[in-house]
Amino acid sequence: MAGKVLLHGGAGEWNISKDEEERVKDALRKAVMAGMKALKKGSALDAVEESVASMEDSSVLNAGRGAYPNIEGDIELDAGIMDGKTLSAGAVASVRNVPNPVRLARLVMEKTQHVLLVADGAERLAKGFSLYEAFKLSTARKKRYTAEIRKFIGQKWIKDLPIAFEKHLDTVGAVAIDDEGNLAAATSTGGTAFKLPGRVGDSPIPGAGFYASNGHGAASASGVGEAIMKYLLCMKVVASLGSLASPFSVLKTEINSLRGVYGPELAGVVAIDSRGVPSVYTDTKAIAIGYGVADGSTRVDIARKEKLDELNTLLIRQIPG
Ligand code: ASP
Repeated sequence: MAGKVLLHGGAGEWNISKDEEERVKDALRKAVMAGMKALKKGSALDAVEESVASMEDSSVLNAGRGAYPNIEGDIELDAGIMDGKTLSAGAVASVRNVPNPVRLARLVMEKTQHVLLVADGAERLAKGFSLYEAFKLSTARKKRYTAEIRKFIGQKWIKDLPIAFEKHLDTVGAVAIDDEGNLAAATSTGGTAFKLPGRVGDSPIPGAGFYASNGHGAASASGVGEAIMKYLLCMKVVASLGSLASPFSVLKTEINSLRGVYGPELAGVVAIDSRGVPSVYTDTKAIAIGYGVADGSTRVDIARKEKLDELNTLLIRQIPG
């Protein structure tokens, strides 16, 4: 089977200008290339790590240096990675000054006996493996952020703050299958904007923001972590991917069921099943995706919800774009 990488740059509004759209698509294209390169000489696990690290480096998505800060203006990152072959997982949460938390998550998986390290402890591990590099919100973003937050202070409860303030920013994630049929998934985020310090969403929680299991599938989610983690969205998607239903209808069923419990416009997922069938669904306005097949084409898209039927057909037929 030819290896494949399917990645997302987040599920959300995606109400952005043409220029911003080009920057995002460029970041998605680079991430597909990074994943494909890794697939050629490595495994599905290498591919999801490289694709996600590339998006973390892009500064145009809600991950790595470009991520949303918390309510105090500090960037705190979450990431997780899972190997479908061994069912091993690694994750980090609330880490500062680690530009590539997905790489740190893989270290947690491979070099420790633990699954999830947070804050200070995770940062100490990062220092030991040269993954620590001090960085702050850029001055321009700090200015925009401070102006935005002023609108809300004193007017609303924290729970009424919006979950985004820069419209083009979103969480990143990737799923992949290699030519031996191994599956992997990874997700990385700065979390929701205006989050409280220490808030952790679904992205670093196995079964919530990501999950992979050979023989079933791999999934990575984006959306409102508080809903996704209570629903254990990726676990439910992967568990059903081995069923007779088409992967697209599995994603649709699970995301609609989450909507039934927690409300509309909360989640999107990308997945690959054990036969290598890709699928994408979101209940938000749109989802940014990138797709690459080792011996063929690539496609990037910021797909509106109403175009997802069409997108899934194009992905399955490997039509480039
Ligand atoms: N799921 C992420 C979180 O809640 C945010 C996102 O996907 O945009 O932290």
